[in-house]
Amino acid sequence: MDQRQRMKEAVQRCLDSRRAELHALSRDIWSRPELAENETHAHDRLVGFLSEDGTWTVQSHYKLQTAFRASWGPVCGGVEGEPGLNVGFLCEYDALPDIGHACGHNLIAEVGAGAALGLKAALETETELPVPVKITVLGTPAEEAVGGKIDLLEAGAFADIDLVFMAHPSQQDASFQATVALDEVSVKYHGKASHASAYPWEGVNALDAAVLAYNNISVLRQQLKPEWRIHGIIKHGGVKPNIIPAYTELQFYIRTPLVKDLCDLKAKAEACFRAAAVATGCQVEIEYPAHAYYNILPNATLANLYENNGKALGIQFPEQPEKFSGSTDFGNVSFIVPGIHPFFYIGTDAFNHTEEYTEAAGAEKAQLFTLRTAKALAMTAVDVLCCPALLRQVREDFKQATLKQEKT
Ligand SMILES: [Zn+2]
Ligand SMILES: [Zn+2]
Repeated sequence: MDQRQRMKEAVQRCLDSRRAELHALSRDIWSRPELAENETHAHDRLVGFLSEDGTWTVQSHYKLQTAFRASWGPVCGGVEGEPGLNVGFLCEYDALPDIGHACGHNLIAEVGAGAALGLKAALETETELPVPVKITVLGTPAEEAVGGKIDLLEAGAFADIDLVFMAHPSQQDASFQATVALDEVSVKYHGKASHASAYPWEGVNALDAAVLAYNNISVLRQQLKPEWRIHGIIKHGGVKPNIIPAYTELQFYIRTPLVKDLCDLKAKAEACFRAAAVATGCQVEIEYPAHAYYNILPNATLANLYENNGKALGIQFPEQPEKFSGSTDFGNVSFIVPGIHPFFYIGTDAFNHTEEYTEAAGAEKAQLFTLRTAKALAMTAVDVLCCPALLRQVREDFKQATLKQEKT
């Protein structure tokens, strides 16, 4: 049996033998949902899980309060002096307000930790590899808000990682699905309060500005490209009907398929917000409080390998994955490190961010799908580690994808 096949079988044996522990891990995170930046229990549980057998070097609270890093290796091999390969697996574990793990990030944690264990088991049986290999598990909090991966990128957490793997629960299996770039904008109007019936002419109406801004955006929407998105809410609309509102606040999300188009849409939106201020005589403050999320760059070589491994495990990939207009902070990572972010079916037709999806993410039924996704990711890593030509191809794909992004 060749090395790759032998190692892939070791991945599968390891994950089958640890299925109960892995299910307990994700079920535990699921049963105590925590919002972005507050994932204390999930952090401690994952840190505990990876610290148990003493073989991983685990750093809790790594660069962010609820992030962690666990490393193993390097296992030797290859030519002396040859730089090793550090393979990263990412775990997300934040939940949503009110509806818990409706995005299934508890299962992302299980896939990341499981794939890392599987790859480690496969490497432990080998004495000769083309390159020395290290494994890193990164706990990346706050995907649903703030973008923990972007903070970690900026803090250098990905600087020594060569390849990065994670997978996200969805309605279908897809080795690659385009996501959209996202920025967030907060708009504040400052007017002047007055008695709304006795002296309305003394007031400057900040709610009028908010309503005009909302309507300006609605009018703009008709002229946008079909995949562009702008959607928002009025967060603060005044305090009492008989007081002309002196202060209002809106929050909008702005999304385009390519990150380079975000600035065009932002400029159009800003014109709408400023026009409303001019029309009403209000002052306007426009702020971009969050990091922009980038679209995910594809890596065809990794995606093909993942599909082949997935098919061998019984995963069915639709010919044409359905269009998806969500966003992830993995997009920013994909511009810096070659990697993949496949989506996986978890046994329900419900959509992410619904209560039905929360149920499904905690159910026993999701385990079969989650475990085989972890196997397919680890097996994809095995392919690349065992075959230097594939690694070169992965790196070339990465280079081409970044260049293409700049040109288009
Ligand atoms: Zn989500
Ligand atoms: Zn998600």
